[in-house]
Amino acid sequence: VIDIQNVNKSYGANEVLKDIRFSVHHGEVVSIIGSSGSGKSTLLRCINLLEIPSGGQIYYRGQNILDGNHHIPSYRTKLGMVFQQFNLFENHNVLSNCVVGQVKVLKRSKEEAEQVARKYLKVVGMESYVHAKPKQLSGGQKQRVAIARALSMEPDVMLFDEPTSALDPEMVGEVLKVMKELAETGLTMLIVTHEMDFAREVSDRVVFMDKGVIAEEGTPEQIFNHPQQERTKEFLKRTL
Ligand code: ATP
Ligand code: MG
Repeated sequence: VIDIQNVNKSYGANEVLKDIRFSVHHGEVVSIIGSSGSGKSTLLRCINLLEIPSGGQIYYRGQNILDGNHHIPSYRTKLGMVFQQFNLFENHNVLSNCVVGQVKVLKRSKEEAEQVARKYLKVVGMESYVHAKPKQLSGGQKQRVAIARALSMEPDVMLFDEPTSALDPEMVGEVLKVMKELAETGLTMLIVTHEMDFAREVSDRVVFMDKGVIAEEGTPEQIFNHPQQERTKEFLKRTL
């Protein structure tokens, strides 16, 4: 679905991504792991064009979306994004959080959008909270609403940037459980995570980033049990 070729990103003299190449196939679950500052978030932000790469190509379904002939906003609707900090609309209730994007961007009617929103709120186990405001919810509940909001746009690919890092430990499990269930439905998912057990269990492929490059990638078995690169071994020794 997504194919990235030679993507670079610099902030001033700081080269944050160096010639990144990788792809995500339809139905695949890919986890990105690596130390703080290795460029994981920047890579996700380049994929959904929250940041414009300094160089390289991003192909979506075979089309180079950076060639100037593509409508960037319509590309971005194909990607659902879930952030560490939820980013819910605080003054909207749960249902409305999942409806506004559908109505504004996808031009769905309010009735249709509500139906779709309820369907995905049910998927994440939040259907009984439709009238609650975000401030009445726990962190885990907020993140599940954020996931339902992204799913309501019926994206092709879901991008997650450390979706459990801001949560109290007792709430991490409920969010990972929802993500695992989504993975099992065949949804295409790209997940930046520090949850190594989750990455091992749920991913088809694991990508290890170090200092702006993909140092190693492979199956969970390859990366966690038989890492080839010294820096992968060191990273795993520090985190496992
Ligand atoms: P973490 O695990 O802490 O989230 P990360 O792997 O996601 O780390 P990035 O957030 O992608 O790392 O950051 C990579 C590098 O890019 C860091 O050196 C960071 O300081 C720098 N960087 C990120 N965003 C910006 C920005 N908007 N302006 C300048 N530098 C930035
Ligand atoms: Mg990050």
